[in-house]
Amino acid sequence: MSAQKPQFVSVAINSPLWQTFQYRLPPELLNIEAGQLGPGCRIRVPFGARTVTGVVTSLDHEAKLPASRIKPAIELLNPDIRVAGTAFKLCLWAADYYTHPVGEVFASALPTLIRRGKEPKDDPAGPFSLKAVNHEGITPTTAQEAAIHAVKADQPCLLYGITGSGKTEVYLRLIENCLKAGQQALVLVPEIGLTPQTIDRFQARFDVEVAALHSGLTDRQRALAWLAAMRGEAGIVLGTRSAVFTPLLNPGIIIVDEEHDASFKQQEGFHYSARDLAVLRARWEAVPVLLGSATPSLESLHNVDIGKYQQVSLTERPGDIQAENYRLINLTRTPAPDGFSTPLLDRMNDTLGKGQQVLVFLNRRGYAPVLYCNGCREIASCTRCDAKLTCHLGYSRLVCHHCGSEEQLLNQCRSCQSPDLVALGMGTQRVEETLKGKFPDFPILRIDRDSTRKKGTLESLLARIHSGEPAILVGTQLLAKGHHFPAVSLVAILDMDSGFYSADYRALEKTGQLILQVGGRAGRAGATGEVVIQTRFAEHRHIANLLKRGYLAFADELLMERKSAGLPPLSYHALIRAKSLKQNLAAEFLQQVADSQSQNGVKVLGPVPALMEKKAGWYRQQLLLSATDRTKLHEVLIGKVTHALALPSSKKVRWSVDVDPTEIY
Ligand code: ADP
Ligand code: ZN
Ligand code: ZN
Repeated sequence: MSAQKPQFVSVAINSPLWQTFQYRLPPELLNIEAGQLGPGCRIRVPFGARTVTGVVTSLDHEAKLPASRIKPAIELLNPDIRVAGTAFKLCLWAADYYTHPVGEVFASALPTLIRRGKEPKDDPAGPFSLKAVNHEGITPTTAQEAAIHAVKADQPCLLYGITGSGKTEVYLRLIENCLKAGQQALVLVPEIGLTPQTIDRFQARFDVEVAALHSGLTDRQRALAWLAAMRGEAGIVLGTRSAVFTPLLNPGIIIVDEEHDASFKQQEGFHYSARDLAVLRARWEAVPVLLGSATPSLESLHNVDIGKYQQVSLTERPGDIQAENYRLINLTRTPAPDGFSTPLLDRMNDTLGKGQQVLVFLNRRGYAPVLYCNGCREIASCTRCDAKLTCHLGYSRLVCHHCGSEEQLLNQCRSCQSPDLVALGMGTQRVEETLKGKFPDFPILRIDRDSTRKKGTLESLLARIHSGEPAILVGTQLLAKGHHFPAVSLVAILDMDSGFYSADYRALEKTGQLILQVGGRAGRAGATGEVVIQTRFAEHRHIANLLKRGYLAFADELLMERKSAGLPPLSYHALIRAKSLKQNLAAEFLQQVADSQSQNGVKVLGPVPALMEKKAGWYRQQLLLSATDRTKLHEVLIGKVTHALALPSSKKVRWSVDVDPTEIY
């Protein structure tokens, strides 16, 4: 029978249902030329009362249902446009590994217009050819050369390089070799990192099309970039996490920059790690994969420890640029009225006096984190979340940073009508106000999500910073990541203390990474950069270790602690989350899931309330599965999910699966 042609297709449809759907091939598709219809093609099919576009997952000889119940497919869309090769395989693999409905996986892998079969018309230009390279006078250092030569297809490579050590130059040289061989480079960067400057840097080096894929594009731009990647017209494909699914005609290398960055993990809907998928895809393509960072994730360092990855290091900065100096100010001994201690103010005065810039980092936007009533001693809280409201004086509102709800900032307490309200703590707005009083002669430039909401303001603020005039920059992560500020020689970190007492076991790792990433902004001026950290935890063992012995020693200690606690990356986790509007439903549902079937060496913990139990009106619970064997974890997870799908209580809650979770909220 094998000579007979397949009569059916299985199709992944964008819906929360887990299976694919089978259709009969209509006569005109039965005898279609070989290769014109295959996995990854888009096909129009009836679905309920609607007609939808889905992705073909297989051509089938056998019917999965009684033949009379299988409807005919309607139409095959342009077969030259499809999720081909490893991109297709990656979607199927990810749907299984991350335990997510396959139709939704394909939907997040495809640009909207392509997914709907409404791709823009354009003339295919043919595969790229590299015409010119402009090295901008840079010759790689010995360490960079060694890194470039170490990168091979047979083993993933972790490039550990302190900020400013020239990691990007290593990427560019590897990309050059790849382009010269006629192959495409896929470069993944964090959300915040994909600025026009990043794109310009690649464009300035190579005379080749760079397809950029990020959230700031119109649907049309996104579809065109995707097509250029798929057809091999773009030599470089530069994108944020979902770009890992882009089909490539002829890939030659995959690079993940700032591999530790949290934005590579999708936190909503289809939870996947673009970094981990990049490593897998490179293996399938048999091309090198390079993960770069100044502060590698514990996951990647662990993979080096066990010999899965090789590590190459850049420990010095090219040219005369020195590593920045770190200094702790112990807030238990040195007072900091209004958030600034005297030694810090002295350093700021000095720096500004020398005509340089100061960067003040605080990871909290708004005016003050809480509004406290002296009358009834209550803190204004969100009615929909277990969270305090943040004061935003600029537009006189109290805002919940977790669900976005807002209310008017009144002169009286909501509960007791007392007018005696005080804003406690500091946000970037308040820091800006304080600094205006203390440094009236210098511009204070605040950069956070609130100050840059209007289109063009970020660009004009950045232009002022780049003019190099003495100024104080105040900002959150938005300012601290991915930018180079040549005139900044002093960085002040006002408050990172929550990282030391958080219930999240990853908080310390993230705090250490952030300190070095933010601090790294100080090392770019001619003079040695200086970083001042104000903290109540100046004697904390891990911080002392980080600043004295460096990131790798710090990470080593954290890894040993994770090992003795049996936490990732020394074990594997999967979370099943559920939320309900009625308080007990989510917990009851998860209890039923927890009780199902044998656990086979997998620990099942919970259900327990999420760290923030109530969010946006929903009561949230979670069930944690933990195991040292990934395969066993996956088997038990699939068993639990299958069981959950059959439970009547599953219809009364919203639930989702997160494999290798990085957030436990
Ligand atoms: P990283 O990506 O590690 O933070 P970059 O690649 O941005 O570092 O390099 C920091 C600076 O050093 C850049 O201005 C870059 O042009 C310069 N640079 C990198 N490699 C060299 C080199 N071999 N010789 C001279 N300058 C270099
Ligand atoms: Zn009150
Ligand atoms: Zn809220």
